[in-house]
Amino acid sequence: MKRILLLCTLLVVGSAVMAQDPAATEDWSMKPPKVDRNRMCKPPSDALVLFKWSSDLTNWKGRGGEARWATIINRMRVNGTGDIMTRDSFGDCQLHVEFRTPLFEKKLEGQGKGNSGVYLQSRYEVQVLDSYENETYYNGQAGSIYKQSSPLVNASRKPGKWQTYDIIFKAPRFHADGTLESPAVITVLHNGVLIQDRFEILGTSVYAGAPSYKAHGDAPLLLQDHGNKVQYRNIWIRKL
Ligand code: MG
Repeated sequence: MKRILLLCTLLVVGSAVMAQDPAATEDWSMKPPKVDRNRMCKPPSDALVLFKWSSDLTNWKGRGGEARWATIINRMRVNGTGDIMTRDSFGDCQLHVEFRTPLFEKKLEGQGKGNSGVYLQSRYEVQVLDSYENETYYNGQAGSIYKQSSPLVNASRKPGKWQTYDIIFKAPRFHADGTLESPAVITVLHNGVLIQDRFEILGTSVYAGAPSYKAHGDAPLLLQDHGNKVQYRNIWIRKL
């Protein structure tokens, strides 16, 4: 009798161990492709470089023709010729942008100081502004989703210093009848600091009134000409 009990116990324990087989929870279905990021100043190997170490605006266009921003060695600069946008269109993406607001704008203030913007899908603005020592409404300062979401913290560097935005963007989805299925979701790191954490965008960025959605597909990345001589460099994107 004792032997039978022992055998039963061993069988129960054995089946329990089988149920907790660690191999059962291993996922071998989809191997993540290798991406080289050995040199942190360089884009990942699978990124699409939109602007890098050349005076080359071939990936960009203006609203009514060629992009005509000033280019200086490895950077481009707002010069009053209007917004520019990529020739390619994008949906879900990881985006890296480096910018610096002008050093010599001491008399300017609020929204008039170092204003530009990174517009995902030409619609949803991550505000670029000199917010180092420059007060404005919080949902309009650097790193805000303009007029929708203030940054969690102010990670701004001094004007004249290069700064980074690293953005994870999930594009909105729309039903066949054009109504919203799911909003755009955005996460932003400013100079490596989390400032927007999976914020659900309320609609197209607008200066006045309530934002709303209008159905669209993939669309270009747009950089705003707001009249301040903001510079950009090292812009790359990864489609997700
Ligand atoms: Mg702006």
